[in-house]
Amino acid sequence: MYRWITIPDFIMTDCCVIGAGIIGLSIARELAGHGFSVVVLDRGSLKLSSSWAAAGIFPPAPMSDDPGDALTHWSDELHRMWAAQLLEETGIDNGLRTCGGLHLTASAAHRDQINSEVRSWQQRGARATLLDSSSIVDIEPCLGAAVSAGLLVGGYLLPDEMQIRPPRHLEALESSCKRRGVVIQRGVTVESIQIRNNRAESVLTSEGHISAGAFCLSSGAWSQKLAAAIGLDIPTRPIRGQIALIRMPEQILKKIVNRGLEYLVPRTDGYMLVGSTIEDVGFDATTSPQAIARLLAFATQMIPSLVNSPVEQSWAGLRPGSIDGVPSLGPVSVGHNLFVASGHFRAGLHQSTGTAVLMAELIRGVPPSLDPRPFNPLRPKPLQGHSAVDAYLARTATDLA
Ligand SMILES: Cc1cc2nc3c(=O)[nH]c(=O)nc-3n(C[C@H](O)[C@H](O)[C@H](O)COP(=O)(O)OP(=O)(O)OC[C@H]3O[C@@H](n4cnc5c(N)ncnc54)[C@H](O)[C@@H]3O)c2cc1C
Repeated sequence: MYRWITIPDFIMTDCCVIGAGIIGLSIARELAGHGFSVVVLDRGSLKLSSSWAAAGIFPPAPMSDDPGDALTHWSDELHRMWAAQLLEETGIDNGLRTCGGLHLTASAAHRDQINSEVRSWQQRGARATLLDSSSIVDIEPCLGAAVSAGLLVGGYLLPDEMQIRPPRHLEALESSCKRRGVVIQRGVTVESIQIRNNRAESVLTSEGHISAGAFCLSSGAWSQKLAAAIGLDIPTRPIRGQIALIRMPEQILKKIVNRGLEYLVPRTDGYMLVGSTIEDVGFDATTSPQAIARLLAFATQMIPSLVNSPVEQSWAGLRPGSIDGVPSLGPVSVGHNLFVASGHFRAGLHQSTGTAVLMAELIRGVPPSLDPRPFNPLRPKPLQGHSAVDAYLARTATDLA
């Protein structure tokens, strides 16, 4: 009934990557850079991925014993290198820049929490400065009205916070992949992974079977379902995030403004991203008028003049939730040529470069640069209700109360 797809120009594909979000494309680029022939399958356009929907905030990434921090720290260094390489290879500037981030609060009762967050950043080697209300206005005069209204009473500055523009970065990655010979097939849905004699033999897709030497499951929030069909428990619970995009005649904000889970991300060309929500609504990637209205209310509370700026677009994406705050990265026992790279939750853009280098090392069978054991896809799972995602959902409920 199904035919075998012939991948153009390849006799045998070394690796088939399932999912062309930030994780799949980054792994494909890295593998192709080491001479691997790679095909990437995705059922839809880039705009349907969580990666396209992301804000692109990169908080400082100091080194620590925490495996997630180690992956982020490494990725942060790699991002600077990749941004330069991508610009040279493709001519596309992905917008990576250090703009700094303000982390602010509306409540004097949060003072102890703010102090302890600043200490924690400093102890881990990041630059962090406590701010009172007047220093907030010194740094960002356009927040003066919010400060006068008592909506911002203090906080801290992380001068090394960075941002990237996800759609541009993805476009650059896709272009770089193609230049390196990667075949990207969109409109192809992977329906199942075929295992025989303890090896992943092929994937059954909407277009037919595809065989390869190795397979990498990087389908974001959808990885869990494909894994479950072959008896693997890889939790990637979808957690919706919504964003509104405002266009201003010229940019008046320099730094990212974070207050609780909401933020403003200023782009140099006048765009302002207003995010975001953390919602457990299954695979529903639509926006809701209530959430967008709440985000816009936050934006105009912070900068009242934004009320005159048109909302250009709004969108939602499904973050792949993780079980314990770190993604699942590595081989799985069911087929020893089958690998998983999923569950980056709120940090997939940031952690994508380290993930790509680590996964490419594991797939190529060379010694990994980062200890992969904490990311073992088959590690013990916390009980339902006690995961990193649950902690965020509880925080959202408190913020909205
Ligand atoms: C609103 C929002 C803001 C965010 N902000 C940030 C941020 O500031 N910084 C940060 O680092 N991260 C951020 N994130 C998180 C980040 O977007 C994710 O962690 C990351 O995009 C996950 O990438 P991925 O490649 O695993 O998944 P995705 O980008 O979702 O890609 C998975 C791909 O797999 C494809 N696919 C799924 N199933 C199949 C199948 N059966 N067959 C074929 N293809 C399939 C999908 O079509 C999709 O393209 C944000 C996310 C959201 C939603």
